[in-house]
Amino acid sequence: MGNHLFDLIRARIPAPDARFALIDDGRVFSYADMVAASGRYAGALVALGVKPGDRVAVQVEKSIEALMLYLGAVRAGAIFLPLNTAYTPAEIEYFLGDAEPAVFVCDPAKAQALRPYAEKAGAKLETLGVGTGSLIEKAAAAPADFADVARGADDLAAILYTSGTTGRSKGAMLSHDNLSSNALALVDYWRFGKEDVLLHALPIFHTHGLFVATNTVLFSGASMILLPKFDPDQVFKYLPQATCMMGVPTFYVRLLQDQRLTPAATKHMRLFVSGSAPLLAETHREWRERTGHAILERYGMTETNMSTSNPYAGDRVAGTVGFPLPGVSARVVDPETGKELARDEIGMIEVKGPNVFKGYWRNPEKTKAEFREDGFFITGDLGKIDPAGYVHIVGRGKDLIITGGYNVYPKEVETEIDDMPGVIESAVIGVPHPDFGEGVTAVVVAKSGADITAQGIAKALEQRLAKFKQPKQVFVVAELPRNTMGKVQKNLLRDTYKDIYAK
Ligand code: AMP
Repeated sequence: MGNHLFDLIRARIPAPDARFALIDDGRVFSYADMVAASGRYAGALVALGVKPGDRVAVQVEKSIEALMLYLGAVRAGAIFLPLNTAYTPAEIEYFLGDAEPAVFVCDPAKAQALRPYAEKAGAKLETLGVGTGSLIEKAAAAPADFADVARGADDLAAILYTSGTTGRSKGAMLSHDNLSSNALALVDYWRFGKEDVLLHALPIFHTHGLFVATNTVLFSGASMILLPKFDPDQVFKYLPQATCMMGVPTFYVRLLQDQRLTPAATKHMRLFVSGSAPLLAETHREWRERTGHAILERYGMTETNMSTSNPYAGDRVAGTVGFPLPGVSARVVDPETGKELARDEIGMIEVKGPNVFKGYWRNPEKTKAEFREDGFFITGDLGKIDPAGYVHIVGRGKDLIITGGYNVYPKEVETEIDDMPGVIESAVIGVPHPDFGEGVTAVVVAKSGADITAQGIAKALEQRLAKFKQPKQVFVVAELPRNTMGKVQKNLLRDTYKDIYAK
């Protein structure tokens, strides 16, 4: 038995001297460099005592070294466990206690603060920063030749903790085949080839930047331009050399605010992909007007990798996330009964396929609760499938508002508000209400200089929505709270407005 994931990557290397990555400091990594560097990291991990199935937890800034550590961990037979760089020491304590990694790699600047938690969890502490760190030194001293540790398709390659906007976040266990099957599906669906150059500006602690972006490049023998973070100046500097970009909706919104976004600047591009949060139909339309490109929106989550995508050649329909990927089944069911619903009916989205994770780390009860008996995973996202087969997401199930016994889907109200002139975007939430259980509440961001008032919005909605769907209060704010992946944090909004209907 070989190493399932890395064997597939190795088999797709176009040529040893083919480019794998251009780094913003000017360094160029060939595919041979990628194999050598990841081999050194694998060797360094094994020398530290990492055994097959051990977790290697990592909280480091984005860098080519961090990517090589990911591949090194896979080759060493370990389970790669990336952690959001924004996590505080108290949060890290929880993750280390839960995952019990053999090794914890952190930024050199954080080593002192995090050492006690690593020790408590029984993990060896190593550091990796930009150009410096104990693990960088160990890797440099390790031989480039590494005999990959045998791992099968069902062995775990990674654990990614869910963003956990409610309750403790859970570790999603992802197998070699979960990652490789999804990479192969995406390469094919999005027509990646070795001539492609991906502009990589996403974080690499999350499924989007780590797996969707990186594995699609690796599985097609393409190359990437690795930027430490999203910065419009850097994007416009490197765009002329790229053929594709993957981003969260915020990237596209920010680039649209920039005068440098022109048809000429994007003429040579083949593909813009968006995901991780809903792309406003307005952003899709504006992008098309400004650049001539229809952004390709896809849908996935930590637990499922990518599940659906708009087509490469067919209509990329704004406000939808397209069709189930080849090999993936998706259905919409009544959340209570689990019965499949007809086209256009809103319910719980469930998916099944080789993309779907193996369960939550050390949490069999939660795993059992989230799967149906026939193997479908209950995503927690509400949506529908339209008659043409396009999947639409209307929001997380937990964001559903129940007011006076009626269900209100926030997306329906948000769409009405977003269509009003002068509105950029909105978030509709339910907050405790003494008479209705929850009161529909709208938080709206206006365009600068627009004549938008809370009363004006409330009045306009009277004509458009049934009474029970109309917000009982509307707030106009400067911006909505978002996490690093561009998701609106409705839990924070619910907290901010929790007392507004209190008697
Ligand atoms: P994460 O596990 O952090 O990747 O978050 C996954 C969640 O992000 C999904 O369950 C959806 O709620 C949301 N999401 C991802 N892609 C999209 C999309 N294209 N449109 C709407 N929501 C999305």
